[in-house]
Amino acid sequence: MKANKSQIKPGKIFIICGPSGSGKTTLLAGLIKGKKIGKLLVKSRSITTRPRRTGERDKFEYFFVTEPEFKRLLKAKKILEWTRYLGYYYGTPKGPLESKLRSGRNIGLCLDLKGARILKKLYPDNTVTVFVLPPSLDVLKSRIENRCSRTNKKEIARRINLARRELLAASQFDYCVLNQNLRVALGKLKDIFLREINT
Ligand code: 5GP
Repeated sequence: MKANKSQIKPGKIFIICGPSGSGKTTLLAGLIKGKKIGKLLVKSRSITTRPRRTGERDKFEYFFVTEPEFKRLLKAKKILEWTRYLGYYYGTPKGPLESKLRSGRNIGLCLDLKGARILKKLYPDNTVTVFVLPPSLDVLKSRIENRCSRTNKKEIARRINLARRELLAASQFDYCVLNQNLRVALGKLKDIFLREINT
């Protein structure tokens, strides 16, 4: 028998948070790549005004927009939550997230602390928050340095400073996962996801 719309159990919002360089994006991508979990979890693509990094494609990693376009979407209430992170805007598109949730799909997002707090408040019953911890501040620093253009010393310093502050919020999350070894961290994340979607 086909499920009536009102009988569909809303999906879970699975938020992965952590400082720049903690590996959260790689972990979410790894989770979705998995044969079993790939069928159970879809990624929410954010909108951002940040310039594209080498290798990033529009509509894949993000929807890259101009600042006036971002502000237009905000005014039109098409963005569910947003943040300004190191001078750039980032936001979660409202329509796609709400329709996926209603149809019972589980959604994965990589957000900053503000975004995680807002979604947890908006959807307290079906939001699961995970904080990814780097093995040490030194490892985090070198990951950030490798990611940002070497010449962009200012951005590197700002990301490292922000990371120090973000790490203090780890205890507010439902789960913490240490990303010392990617394979181990991914295994832990898979266990958390499967346990949560079955509750
Ligand atoms: P990055 O520039 O490294 O891709 O992202 C910077 C920060 O913005 C990361 O912490 C990332 O998780 C966060 N972020 C990306 N998209 C969104 C979004 O839609 N909303 C919020 N609140 N944070 C986001």
